[in-house]
Formats: sequence, C-alpha cells, structure tokens
Amino acid sequence: MTGFSFTLNATDGRARTGAIQTPRGEIRTPAFMPVGTAATVKAMLPESVRATGADILLGNTYHLMLRPGAERIARLGGLHRFMNWDRPILTDSGGFQVMSLAELRKLTEEGVTFASHVDGSRYFLSPETSMEIQRLLGSDIVMAFDECPALPATHERQAEAMRLSMRWAQRSRDAFGDRPGHALFGIMQGGVERDLREESAEALRRIGFDGYAIGGLAVGEGQEAMFGVLDYATDLLPADQPRYLMGVGKPDDIVGAVQRGVDMMDCVLPSRSGRTGQAWTRRGQVNIKNARHADDPRPLDEHCTCPACTGYSRAYLHHVFRAGEMISGMLLTWHNLHYYQEIMQGMRDAIAAGTLDAWVADFHATRAQGDIEPL
Ligand SMILES: [Zn+2]
Repeated sequence: MTGFSFTLNATDGRARTGAIQTPRGEIRTPAFMPVGTAATVKAMLPESVRATGADILLGNTYHLMLRPGAERIARLGGLHRFMNWDRPILTDSGGFQVMSLAELRKLTEEGVTFASHVDGSRYFLSPETSMEIQRLLGSDIVMAFDECPALPATHERQAEAMRLSMRWAQRSRDAFGDRPGHALFGIMQGGVERDLREESAEALRRIGFDGYAIGGLAVGEGQEAMFGVLDYATDLLPADQPRYLMGVGKPDDIVGAVQRGVDMMDCVLPSRSGRTGQAWTRRGQVNIKNARHADDPRPLDEHCTCPACTGYSRAYLHHVFRAGEMISGMLLTWHNLHYYQEIMQGMRDAIAAGTLDAWVADFHATRAQGDIEPL
C-alpha cells in the first residue's frame, strides 16, 4: 500500500465511519487529531498520545516555519523523525494563523507578507511557499493555502475572501503536483453564507482534491450557527472523500459535527484545557482548582481508564495544579485526550452498529447529570 485512499465502511443517518489508508498507517474515521503546534503535543510524549488512541496529529506550518524553520526540520529528517511520531501528520497551510497571530500583515493577490510574532523578522507566505514548506516538513496530509476572514464580516467581504481562497486553491493544487502517498485537501470558505459555501464547494470540486475541509467555522459564530452551516455544507462535498472540520471543538460540537457527516476534526482544547486545570469528562467540565476537590479521594471519572483516573485522586490533581507542578498538565492533558478519543471510538462503533442516535442520547443524558456531588 503506497497510496492514499479513503474507504467508507458504514453510515448511520448522515454520520459515516471508515478509514483513510496512508503509507504511515491507517486513520480511523471519524477521527480526532490532537494538535502538536511546535512539533510537540504539549505535556505529552508521542507514545502517550498514541496510547490515547490518536491515529494522526496536526502540525502548524506557521509556527514551524518561524521556529525552528522548515529547512532545518527537513535537514534533520522531516517532522516525523524530528518529533518522534511515525504515524500520519496533517499540517495546516499557515493561512489561518498568519491572519490571527502575525504582525504587520500585507495581503495581496500573490500572498501575505508579515512579521514574525516571535522575533519580528519578515516572511512571505503564498500558495507556492506554503506547499513547499509542507513538503519540507514531510506532511502526509497537506492543506491548501487560504484566507479565513474574521467573523462577523459583510457578505461582500466574505465573498471576496472566499474567491481569493479559491484562486489560491488552484495555485496550491498546481504547486503540490503529483506526490504519491501524500494528500492535498482543499478548504471550503464562505462563512455562514449559503450561496458562498455552494460557490466554494463547486470551485473546489472542479479543481479536485484528495479530501475537503470546511474552514471558516469555530471562529466565534457559536454552535447553532456552525451546525446551521454543517446542516447543508457536508452534502456539498464528495461523499467518497474525507471531510475535515477545522478547529472543532468542545465534546458536544464534535458529536454534532459527526452527526452532520464530518469525518475529521482537530482542536487545541483538550490539551490547552489540561494545562489550565480544566478537565472534560462524560459528566461535563470539571475545574480541578476548585476547593471542593481538595479532600476528594475519588478519581476524576471512575469509568475512565487513563493514567490520571486509575492512579490519582481529585485531591492529588487539585494539589499538583495549585502547587504548579508539571505533572498537573501532564495528567489532565492525558485524561482529556483519552476522553476525546473515547468519544470518537464510541461514535465509530455506534455508527457501525447503526445505533448512533441512542449513543448520542446517552452522551447528552450523562452530561446533563453534571459533575459528581461533592463528598
Ligand atoms: Zn481519565
């Protein structure tokens, strides 16, 4: 197997389960991709990330091009070797983060000139340079370079950004060329405007990609508006190729997206929350720094099989967070990533069995109970 392919194994309503085959291994879908921004999923060893059930990681082009630099990573054997993760990696195009993090941005038809938020040095990112950087990193799934305008934005502004992104999608396709075993995904834009989403999907399908992302959501529009777009947007994309919803989300966002036909997602939330004392459990969000945990000998979640829940009490997790100990971020991140992967496995099994509705009803009913009563 040297190519890249997607097999759909079962559907339940609009939800799908299947697998993406890559030379670096299989990605079971629906898949959640932990984010390894600076060539590390913060506070986790790669083997620990794998132990949570992750098949694929996401790396950030913008961060890696600034530090340590794509050429340096290439000289050191590529991103997989550099960060000691031998399974698939998806890299974003840098477009989104250039717009949200970089300084002194200047956007033209050609691309974006900007100053690094790290040291102020000048860079240029375009469809062609983004494809080259992602090639140097050795990414398995490469994302087309796009512009994602901040919401709210006028219809005119969103149309302009979407059409520029579609011209850049064609240039990304041309620059990517033919790379067996590597995939290029196009990114649908258009904000919350249905006519723009339709136009964008049509343009991407005409160019032709190995998979299709839904961009421009999870940027502050709220869950209702996001689901409103997903209610029709996934059906605009080819049924026989993977669909990736970028930057989502909270556990209930993920469940709702899968119900609406999404196959892949990524989000910093489980790892970032872990470092700020926030745990996500079957019964909702738990703030471990809350004083009510200080004497609680019970685990975070008695049904969870992660190291944080099998080896440690809420009292311990509370103590190490308050004491600023590194193990606090390590344990909570592990738990959160484990829980996210448990959700994905639960949905994959339920879709295969045709019981997703019952699974989702149980998911919401358990959350509605709220966290366990204080002792
Ligand atoms: Zn746990």
